[in-house]
Amino acid sequence: MDALITLLPGDGIGTEVTKGAREVLEAVAEKYQHSFKFDEQLMGGAAIDACGDPLPEQTIASCQAADAVFLGAVGGPKWSDPSAKVRPEQGLLKLRAVLGVYANIRPVKIYSELTGTSPLRAEILENVDMIVIRELTGGIYFGKKTRDATSASDLCVYTVDEIERIVRVAAKLARSRSSRLCSVDKANVLETSRLWREVTDRVMADEFPDIELETLLVDAAAMHLLSRPRDFDVIVTENMFGDILTDEASMLTGSLGMLPSASLGDSATGLYEPIHGSAPDIAGQGIANPCAAIASAGMLLRHSLGLEEEALAVESAISAAISFGARTADIVSAGESPISTDEMIAAIVNQLNG
Ligand code: NAD
Repeated sequence: MDALITLLPGDGIGTEVTKGAREVLEAVAEKYQHSFKFDEQLMGGAAIDACGDPLPEQTIASCQAADAVFLGAVGGPKWSDPSAKVRPEQGLLKLRAVLGVYANIRPVKIYSELTGTSPLRAEILENVDMIVIRELTGGIYFGKKTRDATSASDLCVYTVDEIERIVRVAAKLARSRSSRLCSVDKANVLETSRLWREVTDRVMADEFPDIELETLLVDAAAMHLLSRPRDFDVIVTENMFGDILTDEASMLTGSLGMLPSASLGDSATGLYEPIHGSAPDIAGQGIANPCAAIASAGMLLRHSLGLEEEALAVESAISAAISFGARTADIVSAGESPISTDEMIAAIVNQLNG
């Protein structure tokens, strides 16, 4: 297959882990005889430095022409001044809106060899395998913002259409797994959550009567994610709750560096990115964990290119590298020696080629 993939390395460790995603995609292309062309473009702080815009027109055009877009991470202290008019994260929100990717899919997979690096006890983590579907283009992150000398506001808006389409994505996924769906909201306080619950109940009753629906308030969900994570299968929630709950869920795996994501809309062009940020505290040291980025490349093969066998091969290569003891610093246990980002990438590519 021929495919055009736009790469947006971004800032900080974004550039380091994007290298891993690219090398793995190149190895897949060679092994399975595909032709992947890569177009690397600026985004985030790097783009602000180059031309004052976190998502330049040239980057948008490349993403719109591509079969899939891979993003490393954006942001960092250099561009974090609260009074700054132009910020890297604006580019991220705009990119999601431009590509119309409203469904962010975040699988939380536990590697049994890594349970020692999670702050939770190993027995709580046994058999944990869940997917969080986060609504990505609505809610408080996209609402009108105001600021004056003494106050600030962020408007949270959801429409019936926005809720219906994300619930359908989640319910279809639940149907392909264990037919259980958990919807998370804050319906005891927020009007948007009351709408979310009403629409979810209706869509599920009318279109997915075979799926068992559980509803949780976000505060309770945050607690249950840690006390009984194996009870969850597919979770659907709004933008900000999903953002926070998936960072929490990353601790089940031991590190933010392990969690991939795919953002999908109604077209095949998806956006694939690790869930972590640019990690300024470790950027430039060559120690970032590339697994989340590489697993995101696996999701790209599956969801945008329809290459399921190749996607499974990437996931197996990550598992095998970890089984053979490859560990970056964030996932080492006592007595284990960490390897560098590049060594971890090489270990995964070797498994893929082996
Ligand atoms: P972060 O995810 O960058 O880092 C949080 C912690 O996790 C840090 O200690 C970091 O070292 C560690 N970590 C993250 N990814 C890792 C990896 N792959 N390997 C090893 N350790 C890893 O979150 P933050 O520090 O809150 O944010 C830093 C910057 O990233 C901010 O500017 C923020 O806005 C931005 N950010 C961007 C995205 C994105 O591009 N999608 C997402 C989140 C945060």
